[in-house]
Amino acid sequence: MEVEMSETTRILNGIEIAAEIKAEVAEEVRALKADGVTPGLVVVLVGHVAASEIYVRSKVKACAELGIWSEMLTPPETVTTEEMLALIADLNGRDEVDGILIQLPLPKHVDTRRLLEAVSPEKDVDGFHPVNAGRLQSGQPGLRPCTPAGILEVLRRSELPVAGKHAVVLGRSDIVGKPVAMLLLNAHATVTVCHSKTVDIGRYTRDADILVAAIGKPGFVTAEMVKPGATLIDVGINRVTDAAEVERYFPGDAERAAQFAKRGSTLVGDIHPAAFALAGAYTPVPGGVGALTIAMLMHNTVKAAKARRGTASGKV
Ligand code: NAP
Repeated sequence: MEVEMSETTRILNGIEIAAEIKAEVAEEVRALKADGVTPGLVVVLVGHVAASEIYVRSKVKACAELGIWSEMLTPPETVTTEEMLALIADLNGRDEVDGILIQLPLPKHVDTRRLLEAVSPEKDVDGFHPVNAGRLQSGQPGLRPCTPAGILEVLRRSELPVAGKHAVVLGRSDIVGKPVAMLLLNAHATVTVCHSKTVDIGRYTRDADILVAAIGKPGFVTAEMVKPGATLIDVGINRVTDAAEVERYFPGDAERAAQFAKRGSTLVGDIHPAAFALAGAYTPVPGGVGALTIAMLMHNTVKAAKARRGTASGKV
């Protein structure tokens, strides 16, 4: 289905918003350094997962750009849960370390849950620790998961109201779906969460003023499932490698076709690109929500440094 793009549809540019957040973080790092505190992040990358190596490199690079000190630890694939627990205990005890990030996924023989719970909640810059999940649920200050927090920043900085709106979240993972639903609820939206057992998802999405799709299914949300004028937040990052499929998602899009010809793949979100034309505002893929995650990780590292080392620079 081809839909004409409405003249009033806003593209929510995640790259620009991320740059804005990073500039603010860099400013806060300068203020902290003036107080004698250099925020520090340690990233732990186990084994050799190609995608994880790329993510970790981007995180370390972002730290360098913003003046945050960082260290990358690379235990071998064969590392045991006990060895990882000892490493985390050491990082918890090091005063210059404000943030600890265990890059996921970990090898199957390692107890991921136990490791994430071993990270001090004060240094849990991913916001995955149950203490931080509890703080989020009870509306207390704490470290929030980066991608969900980034979504709320997109809405806030784009002046898209949340209070009183019906927000529908597709997906209920601990990393995206549940925390973004809780953040939206705390921001006074009326929230519906859909998942793989939800019957007739369109019934809910058609009523959504704000639709957040985080299920990992390319083009799942079609134009027929969207309320005209809604805000569409597409969290999905799905790599499409089939030329016919690319043409189906992006008919007549010369830029995409050229990109596909060059790289042999392109990214599509969980929302079908044709649905964006009906939106009041939407985050594109790529260049939308994906850009926010690292910016929010940097934000969390500075927030953790301030909260734990109690500087005169005030709260983030
Ligand atoms: P996940 O852990 O695999 O969770 C997927 C969720 O979607 C589950 O709650 C699942 O329901 C639900 N689901 C799956 N198929 C469904 C269907 N057909 N209808 C309705 N619900 C369905 O995924 P995730 O980690 O949350 O990630 C979701 C997407 O976001 C992925 O594409 C991922 O790459 C992307 N992502 C992007 C960023 C970023 O931009 N920085 C960060 C994280 C994730 P059940 O609970 O019932 O199984």
